Amino acid sequence: MNSRKTFRVAVLAGDGIGPEVMTEGLRVLETAAAKHGIPLELDHQLVGGAAIDAVGRALPPETLAACEAADAILFGSVGGPKWESLPAAEQPERAALLPLRKHFGLFANLRPAVCLPELTHASPIHPRLVEGGFDVLCVRELTGGLYFGEPKHITIRDGEECAVDTMVYKASEIRRIAKVAFEAAKGRRGVLTSIDKANVLQNGVLWRRIVTEVAQDYPEVALNHLYVDNAAMQLIKNPKSFDVVLAENLFGDILSDEMAMIAGSLGMLPSASLGAETGGGSTRFGMYEPSGGTAPDIAGKGIANPIAQILSVAMMLRFSGGFEAAASEIEGAVRSVIAAGLRTGDIHTGDNALVGTSEMGDAIVRAMA
Ligand code: NAD
Repeated sequence: MNSRKTFRVAVLAGDGIGPEVMTEGLRVLETAAAKHGIPLELDHQLVGGAAIDAVGRALPPETLAACEAADAILFGSVGGPKWESLPAAEQPERAALLPLRKHFGLFANLRPAVCLPELTHASPIHPRLVEGGFDVLCVRELTGGLYFGEPKHITIRDGEECAVDTMVYKASEIRRIAKVAFEAAKGRRGVLTSIDKANVLQNGVLWRRIVTEVAQDYPEVALNHLYVDNAAMQLIKNPKSFDVVLAENLFGDILSDEMAMIAGSLGMLPSASLGAETGGGSTRFGMYEPSGGTAPDIAGKGIANPIAQILSVAMMLRFSGGFEAAASEIEGAVRSVIAAGLRTGDIHTGDNALVGTSEMGDAIVRAMA
Protein backbone atom coordinates (compact mmCIF):
# COMPACT_ATOMS: atom_id res chain seq x y z
CA MET A 1 0.00 0.00 0.00
CA ASN A 2 1.14 3.54 -0.75
CA SER A 3 2.07 4.94 2.64
CA ARG A 4 0.40 8.29 1.80
CA LYS A 5 -3.00 6.72 1.13
CA THR A 6 -5.35 6.86 4.09
CA PHE A 7 -5.54 3.51 5.91
CA ARG A 8 -9.16 3.14 6.93
CA VAL A 9 -10.05 0.84 9.79
CA ALA A 10 -13.54 -0.11 10.97
CA VAL A 11 -13.25 -0.58 14.74
CA LEU A 12 -15.75 -3.06 16.22
CA ALA A 13 -14.95 -3.47 19.92
CA GLY A 14 -18.00 -5.58 20.85
CA ASP A 15 -18.71 -6.95 24.32
CA GLY A 16 -17.12 -8.05 27.59
CA ILE A 17 -13.36 -7.47 27.57
CA GLY A 18 -13.60 -6.43 23.88
CA PRO A 19 -13.73 -2.66 24.55
CA GLU A 20 -11.07 -2.92 27.30
CA VAL A 21 -8.46 -4.62 25.14
CA MET A 22 -9.48 -2.57 22.10
CA THR A 23 -8.55 0.65 23.94
CA GLU A 24 -4.99 -0.62 24.30
CA GLY A 25 -4.90 -1.95 20.74
CA LEU A 26 -5.87 1.47 19.41
CA ARG A 27 -3.25 3.26 21.53
CA VAL A 28 -0.61 1.01 20.01
CA LEU A 29 -2.07 1.50 16.51
CA GLU A 30 -2.07 5.27 16.85
CA THR A 31 1.48 5.25 18.21
CA ALA A 32 2.66 3.14 15.26
CA ALA A 33 0.78 5.33 12.77
CA ALA A 34 2.31 8.55 14.17
CA LYS A 35 5.80 7.07 14.14
CA HIS A 36 5.62 5.56 10.66
CA GLY A 37 3.63 8.34 8.96
CA ILE A 38 0.55 6.19 8.33
CA PRO A 39 -2.51 8.39 7.70
CA LEU A 40 -5.04 6.54 9.81
CA GLU A 41 -8.82 6.89 9.76
CA LEU A 42 -10.81 5.03 12.43
CA ASP A 43 -14.55 4.42 12.22
CA HIS A 44 -15.99 3.07 15.50
CA GLN A 45 -19.13 0.95 15.10
CA LEU A 46 -21.43 -1.20 17.21
CA VAL A 47 -21.40 -4.98 16.94
CA GLY A 48 -22.61 -8.02 18.89
CA GLY A 49 -24.51 -7.71 22.16
CA ALA A 50 -23.76 -3.99 22.38
CA ALA A 51 -25.46 -3.51 19.00
CA ILE A 52 -28.42 -5.71 20.00
CA ASP A 53 -28.94 -3.57 23.10
CA ALA A 54 -28.62 -0.29 21.18
CA VAL A 55 -30.41 -0.98 17.90
CA GLY A 56 -31.87 -4.49 18.12
CA ARG A 57 -29.47 -6.47 15.87
CA ALA A 58 -25.96 -7.83 16.18
CA LEU A 59 -24.72 -6.54 12.82
CA PRO A 60 -26.50 -3.24 12.04
CA PRO A 61 -26.44 -2.00 8.40
CA GLU A 62 -24.33 1.04 9.40
CA THR A 63 -21.67 -1.29 10.81
CA LEU A 64 -21.60 -3.36 7.63
CA ALA A 65 -21.41 -0.18 5.52
CA ALA A 66 -18.46 1.09 7.58
CA CYS A 67 -16.68 -2.24 7.09
CA GLU A 68 -17.31 -2.08 3.34
CA ALA A 69 -15.72 1.38 3.21
CA ALA A 70 -12.66 0.27 5.20
CA ASP A 71 -9.32 -1.36 4.31
CA ALA A 72 -9.60 -3.63 7.35
CA ILE A 73 -11.81 -4.52 10.31
CA LEU A 74 -10.29 -4.47 13.78
CA PHE A 75 -12.58 -6.65 15.88
CA GLY A 76 -12.72 -7.20 19.66
CA SER A 77 -15.07 -10.05 20.57
CA VAL A 78 -18.81 -10.56 20.93
CA GLY A 79 -21.27 -12.43 23.09
CA GLY A 80 -21.91 -13.17 26.74
CA PRO A 81 -24.47 -14.58 29.16
CA LYS A 82 -26.82 -11.62 28.66
CA TRP A 83 -27.60 -12.67 25.07
CA GLU A 84 -27.44 -16.46 25.41
CA SER A 85 -31.21 -16.85 25.77
CA LEU A 86 -31.90 -15.21 22.40
CA PRO A 87 -32.89 -17.50 19.49
CA ALA A 88 -29.69 -19.05 18.07
CA ALA A 89 -29.88 -17.12 14.80
CA GLU A 90 -29.96 -13.78 16.65
CA GLN A 91 -27.07 -14.45 19.00
CA PRO A 92 -24.01 -12.22 18.66
CA GLU A 93 -21.53 -14.74 17.23
CA ARG A 94 -23.98 -16.37 14.82
CA ALA A 95 -25.55 -13.07 13.71
CA ALA A 96 -22.41 -10.92 13.48
CA LEU A 97 -19.21 -12.95 13.12
CA LEU A 98 -20.31 -15.62 10.62
CA PRO A 99 -22.11 -13.10 8.34
CA LEU A 100 -19.05 -10.82 8.35
CA ARG A 101 -16.80 -13.72 7.30
CA LYS A 102 -19.19 -14.77 4.56
CA HIS A 103 -19.99 -11.24 3.33
CA PHE A 104 -16.33 -10.35 2.85
CA GLY A 105 -15.25 -13.79 1.61
CA LEU A 106 -12.74 -14.10 4.47
CA PHE A 107 -11.73 -17.65 3.58
CA ALA A 108 -8.28 -17.75 5.18
CA ASN A 109 -7.93 -17.71 8.94
CA LEU A 110 -4.38 -17.36 10.24
CA ARG A 111 -3.85 -18.13 13.90
CA PRO A 112 -0.28 -18.07 15.13
CA ALA A 113 0.16 -20.06 18.35
CA VAL A 114 3.40 -18.71 19.74
CA CYS A 115 4.67 -19.70 23.15
CA LEU A 116 7.49 -17.32 24.08
CA PRO A 117 10.41 -18.95 25.95
CA GLU A 118 9.61 -16.79 29.02
CA LEU A 119 6.01 -18.05 29.11
CA THR A 120 6.40 -21.81 28.81
CA HIS A 121 5.22 -22.13 32.43
CA ALA A 122 1.74 -20.98 31.26
CA SER A 123 1.44 -24.04 29.00
CA PRO A 124 -0.54 -26.88 30.61
CA ILE A 125 1.64 -29.58 29.02
CA HIS A 126 4.88 -30.98 30.40
CA PRO A 127 7.68 -28.34 30.53
CA ARG A 128 10.10 -30.62 28.65
CA LEU A 129 7.71 -30.61 25.63
CA VAL A 130 7.64 -26.79 25.34
CA GLU A 131 11.11 -25.90 26.61
CA GLY A 132 12.47 -22.89 24.70
CA GLY A 133 8.98 -22.04 23.41
CA PHE A 134 7.38 -22.86 20.08
CA ASP A 135 5.78 -21.16 17.10
CA VAL A 136 3.04 -22.89 15.07
CA LEU A 137 0.79 -21.20 12.52
CA CYS A 138 -2.67 -22.64 11.92
CA VAL A 139 -4.16 -21.84 8.50
CA ARG A 140 -7.86 -22.64 8.69
CA GLU A 141 -10.38 -22.56 5.84
CA LEU A 142 -13.14 -20.27 7.08
CA THR A 143 -16.04 -20.03 4.64
CA GLY A 144 -16.74 -23.63 3.57
CA GLY A 145 -17.29 -27.10 4.95
CA LEU A 146 -19.82 -28.11 7.58
CA TYR A 147 -20.42 -24.57 8.87
CA PHE A 148 -21.94 -23.35 5.63
CA GLY A 149 -22.96 -26.42 3.55
CA GLU A 150 -26.63 -26.95 2.64
CA PRO A 151 -28.93 -28.57 3.57
CA LYS A 152 -28.54 -27.64 7.21
CA HIS A 153 -31.56 -28.20 9.41
CA ILE A 154 -33.32 -30.21 12.08
CA THR A 155 -36.12 -32.20 10.52
CA ILE A 156 -38.35 -35.18 11.21
CA ARG A 157 -37.34 -38.50 9.64
CA ASP A 158 -39.05 -41.81 10.36
CA GLY A 159 -41.03 -40.12 13.11
CA GLU A 160 -38.10 -38.70 15.06
CA GLU A 161 -36.00 -35.54 15.07
CA CYS A 162 -32.98 -35.67 12.85
CA ALA A 163 -30.19 -33.07 12.48
CA VAL A 164 -28.49 -32.56 9.11
CA ASP A 165 -25.29 -30.63 8.40
CA THR A 166 -23.59 -30.90 5.04
CA MET A 167 -19.87 -30.96 4.39
CA VAL A 168 -19.03 -29.61 0.94
CA TYR A 169 -15.71 -28.43 -0.49
CA LYS A 170 -15.06 -27.37 -4.06
CA ALA A 171 -11.59 -28.07 -5.44
CA SER A 172 -11.11 -24.31 -5.98
CA GLU A 173 -11.81 -23.63 -2.29
CA ILE A 174 -9.22 -26.20 -1.24
CA ARG A 175 -6.68 -24.90 -3.76
CA ARG A 176 -6.89 -21.25 -2.65
CA ILE A 177 -6.49 -22.00 1.07
CA ALA A 178 -3.66 -24.45 0.32
CA LYS A 179 -1.82 -21.68 -1.56
CA VAL A 180 -2.12 -19.38 1.46
CA ALA A 181 -0.63 -22.12 3.66
CA PHE A 182 2.24 -22.93 1.26
CA GLU A 183 3.08 -19.22 0.90
CA ALA A 184 3.14 -18.90 4.70
CA ALA A 185 5.35 -21.99 5.06
CA LYS A 186 7.75 -20.60 2.43
CA GLY A 187 8.40 -17.58 4.64
CA ARG A 188 8.88 -19.72 7.77
CA ARG A 189 10.63 -23.07 8.39
CA GLY A 190 9.18 -24.61 5.24
CA VAL A 191 7.19 -27.46 6.79
CA LEU A 192 3.47 -27.83 6.06
CA THR A 193 1.23 -30.39 7.74
CA SER A 194 -2.12 -30.82 6.02
CA ILE A 195 -4.95 -32.22 8.14
CA ASP A 196 -7.81 -34.38 6.84
CA LYS A 197 -9.83 -37.50 7.50
CA ALA A 198 -9.21 -39.12 4.12
CA ASN A 199 -9.69 -42.59 5.60
CA VAL A 200 -13.38 -41.87 6.23
CA LEU A 201 -14.54 -38.71 4.44
CA GLN A 202 -14.78 -38.04 0.69
CA ASN A 203 -13.98 -34.43 1.58
CA GLY A 204 -10.69 -35.68 2.98
CA VAL A 205 -9.86 -37.63 -0.19
CA LEU A 206 -10.34 -34.54 -2.36
CA TRP A 207 -8.57 -32.30 0.20
CA ARG A 208 -5.46 -34.52 0.22
CA ARG A 209 -5.36 -34.80 -3.59
CA ILE A 210 -5.67 -31.04 -4.21
CA VAL A 211 -3.15 -30.10 -1.49
CA THR A 212 -0.69 -32.60 -3.00
CA GLU A 213 -1.23 -31.02 -6.44
CA VAL A 214 -0.60 -27.50 -5.09
CA ALA A 215 2.61 -28.78 -3.47
CA GLN A 216 4.11 -29.23 -6.96
CA ASP A 217 4.41 -25.41 -7.15
CA TYR A 218 6.27 -25.26 -3.81
CA PRO A 219 9.24 -27.64 -3.99
CA GLU A 220 10.92 -25.72 -1.15
CA VAL A 221 8.13 -26.70 1.27
CA ALA A 222 8.07 -30.17 2.87
CA LEU A 223 4.46 -31.39 2.89
CA ASN A 224 3.11 -34.12 5.13
CA HIS A 225 -0.45 -35.29 5.78
CA LEU A 226 -2.00 -36.26 9.12
CA TYR A 227 -5.43 -37.59 9.97
CA VAL A 228 -7.13 -35.13 12.30
CA ASP A 229 -7.31 -37.52 15.25
CA ASN A 230 -3.59 -38.24 15.02
CA ALA A 231 -2.86 -34.50 14.64
CA ALA A 232 -4.73 -33.79 17.89
CA MET A 233 -2.39 -36.24 19.64
CA GLN A 234 0.85 -35.15 17.94
CA LEU A 235 0.22 -31.49 18.81
CA ILE A 236 0.25 -32.40 22.48
CA LYS A 237 3.08 -34.90 22.19
CA ASN A 238 5.47 -32.73 20.19
CA PRO A 239 4.21 -29.20 19.41
CA LYS A 240 7.69 -28.05 18.43
CA SER A 241 7.73 -30.42 15.46
CA PHE A 242 5.02 -28.36 13.69
CA ASP A 243 5.52 -25.24 11.59
CA VAL A 244 2.36 -24.54 9.52
CA VAL A 245 -0.82 -26.58 9.99
CA LEU A 246 -3.46 -26.46 7.22
CA ALA A 247 -7.00 -27.54 8.00
CA GLU A 248 -10.58 -27.24 6.77
CA ASN A 249 -13.11 -25.22 8.76
CA LEU A 250 -14.24 -27.62 11.52
CA PHE A 251 -10.89 -29.36 12.06
CA GLY A 252 -9.12 -25.97 12.06
CA ASP A 253 -11.58 -24.58 14.60
CA ILE A 254 -10.86 -27.40 17.02
CA LEU A 255 -7.11 -27.79 16.44
CA SER A 256 -6.42 -24.04 16.60
CA ASP A 257 -8.05 -23.92 20.05
CA GLU A 258 -5.94 -26.88 21.11
CA MET A 259 -2.83 -25.05 19.88
CA ALA A 260 -3.91 -21.89 21.72
CA MET A 261 -4.27 -23.87 24.92
CA ILE A 262 -0.87 -25.53 24.52
CA ALA A 263 0.65 -22.09 23.92
CA GLY A 264 -0.55 -20.89 27.32
CA SER A 265 -3.09 -18.09 27.39
CA LEU A 266 -5.76 -17.12 24.88
CA GLY A 267 -4.91 -13.57 25.90
CA MET A 268 -1.64 -13.75 23.93
CA LEU A 269 -2.94 -15.01 20.59
CA PRO A 270 -4.05 -12.83 17.67
CA SER A 271 -5.77 -13.89 14.45
CA ALA A 272 -6.30 -12.66 10.92
CA SER A 273 -9.15 -13.62 8.59
CA LEU A 274 -8.22 -12.72 5.05
CA GLY A 275 -10.05 -12.39 1.74
CA ALA A 276 -8.59 -12.64 -1.75
CA GLU A 277 -5.65 -10.49 -2.79
CA THR A 278 -6.89 -7.42 -4.58
CA GLY A 279 -5.57 -5.63 -7.65
CA GLY A 280 -2.48 -7.81 -7.93
CA GLY A 281 -1.04 -6.10 -4.83
CA SER A 282 0.32 -7.84 -1.80
CA THR A 283 -2.29 -6.41 0.61
CA ARG A 284 -5.76 -7.75 1.15
CA PHE A 285 -8.91 -6.93 3.09
CA GLY A 286 -9.06 -8.67 6.41
CA MET A 287 -10.62 -8.88 9.83
CA TYR A 288 -8.29 -9.01 12.83
CA GLU A 289 -9.26 -10.16 16.30
CA PRO A 290 -7.98 -11.89 19.43
CA SER A 291 -8.38 -15.66 19.41
CA GLY A 292 -10.32 -15.59 22.69
CA GLY A 293 -13.86 -14.48 23.43
CA THR A 294 -15.41 -11.85 25.69
CA ALA A 295 -14.14 -13.47 28.93
CA PRO A 296 -17.23 -12.64 31.04
CA ASP A 297 -15.43 -13.97 34.15
CA ILE A 298 -12.94 -11.08 34.11
CA ALA A 299 -14.78 -8.40 32.09
CA GLY A 300 -14.95 -4.95 33.69
CA LYS A 301 -12.09 -5.64 36.08
CA GLY A 302 -9.28 -4.08 34.04
CA ILE A 303 -7.21 -7.26 34.23
CA ALA A 304 -7.59 -8.77 30.74
CA ASN A 305 -4.45 -9.33 28.73
CA PRO A 306 -4.48 -6.86 25.79
CA ILE A 307 -1.59 -8.53 23.92
CA ALA A 308 -3.81 -10.66 21.62
CA GLN A 309 -5.58 -7.48 20.49
CA ILE A 310 -2.28 -5.60 20.13
CA LEU A 311 -0.73 -8.40 18.06
CA SER A 312 -3.91 -8.41 15.93
CA VAL A 313 -3.16 -4.75 15.19
CA ALA A 314 0.32 -5.81 14.03
CA MET A 315 -1.16 -8.47 11.72
CA MET A 316 -3.58 -5.87 10.32
CA LEU A 317 -0.78 -3.43 9.54
CA ARG A 318 1.17 -6.22 7.82
CA PHE A 319 -1.53 -7.94 5.74
CA SER A 320 -4.05 -5.18 4.98
CA GLY A 321 -1.71 -2.18 5.12
CA GLY A 322 1.62 -3.49 3.89
CA PHE A 323 3.27 -1.67 6.83
CA GLU A 324 5.79 -4.37 7.71
CA ALA A 325 8.13 -2.11 9.71
CA ALA A 326 5.31 -0.89 11.97
CA ALA A 327 4.03 -4.46 12.43
CA SER A 328 7.47 -5.83 13.37
CA GLU A 329 8.02 -2.97 15.77
CA ILE A 330 4.82 -3.77 17.66
CA GLU A 331 5.75 -7.46 17.87
CA GLY A 332 9.23 -6.51 19.11
CA ALA A 333 7.74 -4.20 21.75
CA VAL A 334 5.51 -7.03 23.03
CA ARG A 335 8.49 -9.40 23.26
CA SER A 336 10.60 -6.83 25.11
CA VAL A 337 7.86 -6.12 27.66
CA ILE A 338 7.49 -9.85 28.32
CA ALA A 339 11.27 -10.22 28.57
CA ALA A 340 11.26 -7.34 31.10
CA GLY A 341 8.95 -9.42 33.31
CA LEU A 342 5.57 -7.66 33.02
CA ARG A 343 2.61 -10.04 33.27
CA THR A 344 -1.16 -9.80 33.32
CA GLY A 345 -2.91 -12.30 35.61
CA ASP A 346 -3.41 -15.00 32.95
CA ILE A 347 0.37 -15.40 32.45
CA HIS A 348 1.62 -14.38 35.87
CA THR A 349 3.85 -16.51 38.09
CA GLY A 350 6.44 -16.02 40.81
CA ASP A 351 8.24 -12.72 41.14
CA ASN A 352 7.14 -11.15 37.87
CA ALA A 353 5.39 -7.76 37.98
CA LEU A 354 1.60 -8.23 37.94
CA VAL A 355 -0.03 -5.50 35.83
CA GLY A 356 -3.52 -4.65 34.58
CA THR A 357 -4.78 -4.12 31.03
CA SER A 358 -3.88 -0.45 30.73
CA GLU A 359 -0.48 -0.82 32.42
CA MET A 360 0.42 -3.53 29.91
CA GLY A 361 -0.73 -1.21 27.09
CA ASP A 362 1.35 1.66 28.59
CA ALA A 363 4.46 -0.51 28.72
CA ILE A 364 4.11 -1.65 25.10
CA VAL A 365 3.56 1.93 23.89
CA ARG A 366 6.67 3.00 25.86
CA ALA A 367 8.70 0.15 24.37
CA MET A 368 7.82 1.42 20.88
CA ALA A 369 9.21 4.88 21.62
P1 NAD B 1 -13.34 -16.92 26.37
O1 NAD B 1 -12.24 -16.98 25.36
O2 NAD B 1 -14.08 -15.65 26.45
O3 NAD B 1 -12.75 -17.24 27.81
C1 NAD B 1 -12.07 -18.48 28.11
C2 NAD B 1 -11.08 -18.25 29.26
O4 NAD B 1 -9.96 -17.50 28.75
C3 NAD B 1 -11.67 -17.42 30.39
O5 NAD B 1 -11.18 -17.89 31.62
C4 NAD B 1 -11.14 -16.02 30.14
O6 NAD B 1 -11.01 -15.24 31.30
C5 NAD B 1 -9.78 -16.31 29.50
N1 NAD B 1 -9.38 -15.24 28.58
C6 NAD B 1 -9.81 -15.03 27.31
N2 NAD B 1 -9.26 -13.92 26.81
C7 NAD B 1 -8.46 -13.43 27.78
C8 NAD B 1 -7.60 -12.28 27.89
N3 NAD B 1 -7.47 -11.41 26.86
N4 NAD B 1 -6.92 -12.07 29.03
C9 NAD B 1 -7.03 -12.94 30.05
N5 NAD B 1 -7.81 -14.04 30.03
C10 NAD B 1 -8.52 -14.27 28.91
O7 NAD B 1 -14.32 -18.14 26.02
P2 NAD B 1 -15.75 -18.51 26.60
O8 NAD B 1 -15.78 -18.27 28.08
O9 NAD B 1 -16.04 -19.84 26.07
O10 NAD B 1 -16.76 -17.50 25.90
C11 NAD B 1 -17.24 -16.31 26.51
C12 NAD B 1 -18.12 -15.57 25.52
O11 NAD B 1 -17.33 -15.15 24.39
C13 NAD B 1 -19.25 -16.44 24.95
O12 NAD B 1 -20.40 -15.64 24.84
C14 NAD B 1 -18.75 -16.82 23.57
O13 NAD B 1 -19.82 -17.05 22.68
C15 NAD B 1 -17.95 -15.58 23.19
N6 NAD B 1 -16.90 -15.84 22.18
C16 NAD B 1 -16.73 -14.90 21.23
C17 NAD B 1 -15.73 -15.04 20.30
C18 NAD B 1 -15.54 -13.97 19.28
O14 NAD B 1 -16.12 -12.91 19.37
N7 NAD B 1 -14.71 -14.20 18.26
C19 NAD B 1 -14.88 -16.15 20.36
C20 NAD B 1 -15.06 -17.09 21.38
C21 NAD B 1 -16.07 -16.92 22.31
